[in-house]
Amino acid sequence: MKHLTKLPNIGTNIFSIMSALANKHDAINLSQGFPNFKSDPLLKDLVSKAMQNGYNQYAPMPGNLELNKAISRKFERLYGTSYHPETEITITAGATQAIFTIISAFIRQDDEVILFKPAYDCYEPAIELHGGKTIAIQLAAPNYSIDWNAVREKVHSKTKMIIINTPQNPSGTVFTEADMLALQDITKNTNIIVLSDEVYEHIIFDGNKHQSACLYPDLKARSFITASFGKTFHNTGWKMGYCCAAKELMEEFRKVHQFNVFSVNHPMQKGLADYLQEPNHYLELSSFYQEKRDLFLRLIKDSRFQFQAAKGTYFQVLDFSEITQEYDVDFAKRLTIENKVAGIPLSVFNENNKDDKVLRFCFAKTDETLKKAADILNNI
Ligand code: PMP
Ligand code: GLN
Repeated sequence: MKHLTKLPNIGTNIFSIMSALANKHDAINLSQGFPNFKSDPLLKDLVSKAMQNGYNQYAPMPGNLELNKAISRKFERLYGTSYHPETEITITAGATQAIFTIISAFIRQDDEVILFKPAYDCYEPAIELHGGKTIAIQLAAPNYSIDWNAVREKVHSKTKMIIINTPQNPSGTVFTEADMLALQDITKNTNIIVLSDEVYEHIIFDGNKHQSACLYPDLKARSFITASFGKTFHNTGWKMGYCCAAKELMEEFRKVHQFNVFSVNHPMQKGLADYLQEPNHYLELSSFYQEKRDLFLRLIKDSRFQFQAAKGTYFQVLDFSEITQEYDVDFAKRLTIENKVAGIPLSVFNENNKDDKVLRFCFAKTDETLKKAADILNNI
């Protein structure tokens, strides 16, 4: 059989490649972003109870109403704004499905989508599949700050969507209030949809406040916010998430959602709804991960890697330019095979694979694992 690929430039993603390499060579895996410690037994009990109690058939298409209500209350509590649980929140199979479905519902042939690089890897293929055009704005290491005047110059009648991600994977940076106000200003009186990927909303450090798109009324009206329970409750394998948007936008989202997944895992939705009744389950996350970030950075402070502390996410970027001038992908592979610690090269997330000689390391690991990894990094 012959077929023309719809994604000629896409191979296996870097997370699969580096995790497989780490496993093959028995290396400490700080590459793909997932915790190596157990999640709260209470959450697992609540999910098991939901199964015992009969939550085993299809959930309603938008989600189990108790979960949608719990999410709605979380928005009110944290951001002082509301999303209607029945019409403005939809439970998804992780943030990835929400992101794909948003792009699928709105992007047509030749629509332009502005995003910032380094960018998480799932946006661009979805845009391409729908005939859209990615307009990438490359940010400069190590601060990765955005020149909003440059963004303004890229916005015109074909601009259909702007994708933002704060706290940002892979750079570990966060948007400031000034960033959000600039974005709000640029999109005012346009038909541009903002996809605000906020999967790390609860992992933000040094007392900073997460700048959710929902805090800014005009932004909120044009934004989809995507979230992931995998990140928040240490269960990336459950692939549970949600998205929120104004009713009219959500109606379009659901037209697609009902045919690419219809509804998602019901007992997990019920368990998560019960677990969310206690706000500390997500409020404690920033301090939990800040301790891990600080431990990791303390341990490697005398190494030859340079860094600026991550402001959010569970990823730390390390600059290796004092160690070698190798291409970052080659260095990441060599580090995994020879030194037995795996990270992710950032060039794969950059425009034209720009190589800033930095690797991303995931610190969502036990203290013991972080100590072992630091011992290795200190000897390089
Ligand atoms: N967006 C970003 C920025 C991510 O880092 C991830 C996963 N790490 C996702 C989306 C996807 O989340 P999920 O695993 O819930 O699909
Ligand atoms: N989001 C995770 C990361 O950034 C990986 C998810 C995946 O493997 N696709 O490491």
